[in-house]
Amino acid sequence: EIAAQAIDLHKTYGKGAAEVRALDGVSLDLYAGQFTAIMGPSGSGKSTLMHCLAALDKPTSGEVVVGGRKLGRLRDRRLTALRRDKIGFVFQAFNLVPTLTAQENILLPLSLARRKPEKGWFDQVIDTVGLRPRLDHKPSELSGGQQQRVACARALVSRPDIVFADEPTGNLDSTSAAQVLDFLRHSVDDLGQTIVMVSHDPVAASYCDRVIFLADGRIVDELAKPSREQIL
Ligand code: ADP
Ligand code: ADP
Repeated sequence: EIAAQAIDLHKTYGKGAAEVRALDGVSLDLYAGQFTAIMGPSGSGKSTLMHCLAALDKPTSGEVVVGGRKLGRLRDRRLTALRRDKIGFVFQAFNLVPTLTAQENILLPLSLARRKPEKGWFDQVIDTVGLRPRLDHKPSELSGGQQQRVACARALVSRPDIVFADEPTGNLDSTSAAQVLDFLRHSVDDLGQTIVMVSHDPVAASYCDRVIFLADGRIVDELAKPSREQIL
């Protein structure tokens, strides 16, 4: 089953002599129930690709399909609803609300939409992420790794079709990074989630089922279940 698809994506910024080709013909099928990493040097187009796949940005040409829907065909209101209901986001900065507890932060996307989590799902997510003893803590009372795990739980709480994580371990020490990566791995294996992560870190990529390498806006290589040695 294909969770998201990029079909011949091009994205250019600027015009004339200042034109930058951020994406130069990227086609990619992302399979449901997989943990995929997108790697590549700085400026290779990783963020642009992820933003196009996540309906945060529009390609100059080409098509993105998420959950069977062609994003280019959707009106802004439908895109907003798709982002809210079907897509989860994790960023390098945790972006938690400092005045809310961990539980309130996790439930915030649903509260804003006046919805409740699917029965049993909140507990499954909390137990997988190992945050039950921290639910009443404010972000300032949590370690960086715990804050990022709260952000990951928040991304999963609507049980999205696909979760995009942009350098989720970029601000973390290696121990905290391992906790976040373990949770993302378990959310795929035990909760059936689909995760796409942009990362520079070979250790992070070694948690993935599949690693896509970008250079100059093109896919230049791909590895399945790579060992750390293969990525380093
Ligand atoms: P990566 O995430 O791999 O570092 P990006 O997708 O951020 O790569 O950038 C790809 C290319 O597009 C780079 O040359 C970058 O400078 C350029 N770029 C990205 N965003 C913009 C923008 N908003 N305006 C102009 N150029 C941009
Ligand atoms: P866990 O093993 O539960 O994931 P950690 O190893 O991340 O927890 O942190 C251990 C304890 O130290 C926790 O109670 C956590 O709240 C606290 N802690 C760690 N870093 C910080 C920090 N920067 N600010 C406040 N508390 C912290």
